[in-house]
Amino acid sequence: MKQVTYNGLNFVPFIEKEQIAERVKAMAQQIMADCGDCNPLFICVLNGAFAFASDLFRAFEYDAEIAFIRLKSYEGTGTTGTVKQIHGLTEDITNRTVVVIEDIVDTGFTMKQLIEDLKAKNPTQIKIASLLYKPESLQCDVKVDYVGFSIPSKFIIGYGLDLDEQARNLPDIYVLKEE
Ligand code: IMP
Ligand code: MG
Repeated sequence: MKQVTYNGLNFVPFIEKEQIAERVKAMAQQIMADCGDCNPLFICVLNGAFAFASDLFRAFEYDAEIAFIRLKSYEGTGTTGTVKQIHGLTEDITNRTVVVIEDIVDTGFTMKQLIEDLKAKNPTQIKIASLLYKPESLQCDVKVDYVGFSIPSKFIIGYGLDLDEQARNLPDIYVLKEE
């Protein structure tokens, strides 16, 4: 792994794909221990969580379903402060266990709004699984049940995460280089 450049910004290796794979498997084990026998509905938050969701869902060894919603709050390397729901949920989640699959919880605004919307649909319980979590950026009352990696408040790309739609296909995670 070496330095990569997008939009004139340099990024350096941060989390290797082997480490990601190990953590994702461990997270799936945790979710199986808590929700293995309740046929959970996983909800993947597009676009960023598609890679994580694909790996996490296939590591879940019990009956489960998956659905997709699309939200957007980021432009460039910063949050816009508003969460746009681009593609909503059509599945009925009444009396179901829901596991939200998110790529990263940063300020927490996206998760807070989504959880409020989902709660209104009367699920049995809602769990949040986020591959990455920036505790120092959190500005909302959001509890992430399953965290892959807690990281400093720096901008990262790869394994689904983008810089203006670029870099999602990198198998490893990279962090913005401090020049
Ligand atoms: P929040 O609402 O501030 O918690 O932002 C969550 C969303 O912003 C995530 O689902 C990502 O799509 C995006 N985001 C937050 N931090 C980063 C980052 O470091 N790189 C790429 N996208 C990010
Ligand atoms: Mg996201």
